[in-house]
Amino acid sequence: MTETLLEIKDLKKHFPITGGIFGKTIGHVKAVDGVSFSVKKGETLGIVGESGCGKSTTGRMLMRLIEPTAGEIIFDGKDLMKLSKKDMRATRRDLQMVFQDPFASLNPRHTVEKILEEPLIVHGIGDEKERKKKVRELLEVVGLSSYYAKRYPHQFSGGQRQRIGIARALMTRPKLIIADEPVSALDVSIQSQVLNLMQDLQKEFGLTYIFIAHDLGVVRHISDRVGVMYLGKMVELADSEKLYEKPLHPYTQALLSAVPIPDPEHKRETIVLKGDIPSPANPPKGCAFHARCPFKTEKCEEVVPTFKEVEPGHSVACHLF
Ligand code: SF4
Repeated sequence: MTETLLEIKDLKKHFPITGGIFGKTIGHVKAVDGVSFSVKKGETLGIVGESGCGKSTTGRMLMRLIEPTAGEIIFDGKDLMKLSKKDMRATRRDLQMVFQDPFASLNPRHTVEKILEEPLIVHGIGDEKERKKKVRELLEVVGLSSYYAKRYPHQFSGGQRQRIGIARALMTRPKLIIADEPVSALDVSIQSQVLNLMQDLQKEFGLTYIFIAHDLGVVRHISDRVGVMYLGKMVELADSEKLYEKPLHPYTQALLSAVPIPDPEHKRETIVLKGDIPSPANPPKGCAFHARCPFKTEKCEEVVPTFKEVEPGHSVACHLF
């Protein structure tokens, strides 16, 4: 059996809402409200949901860039919540992130060489000569010429900048990369090039990925398993093939109905969801999806469905199962 690299249990992030002249806490935004999953070594877990569902907050909590309110994060045998700030900084060598907007995440005043060298300096890896050599190697690995090392981020296209973002994440040879919407800001034609590069790098470096996206279409080919989040909770989690063949949760069915099928012989009815996502500051009682769900019953308005395994490797939070 493949080893588990990451396990999170009942992870929560409740941001306080303050008000009044004394700035008292008058409520909480439950951005992430009890999420549990595990990731095996070498696999890619896709996490999908509309904006505001808590997927990016979950990703940032795994690196403790946002401090969780509660829960456990066990990474490579270590309980990250128990690490001191100093030990957590050292652990980030094994745990890197690729961001959505490569332009915003690359310092415009630094050359690519300086940007890529920085993680090595932070973690005290190699001397100057070794670091510069590694920068040039990594640029070639991500499909850019080492000749570009002295250029600045604005001299690159969006796709090239994301390659630099990926190279930066790879500099410390991490075990896990959390990619937060890494292709969403790119043209469709460039998206597949970056996705292919990420797949090649996964094989070459034995990487494990958490791939966050708002679109089920994007994560389909890269993910071994996919988790769907809605209003701070995981509502369905299954092997990629199973989820796309037989989605169980009505929300997953709706998301999937919006993904175009390349085969013109096959037509799928688009399920248009009524209403907007409710506010995580004031989530509805019972199943958080009930106001938009075409199958809701009275029970759904009162009782929160538990997230349970209904078939081996397929979990769902819905009273229908
Ligand atoms: Fe719909 Fe009820 Fe299932 Fe929620 S629990 S998804 S409201 S059927």
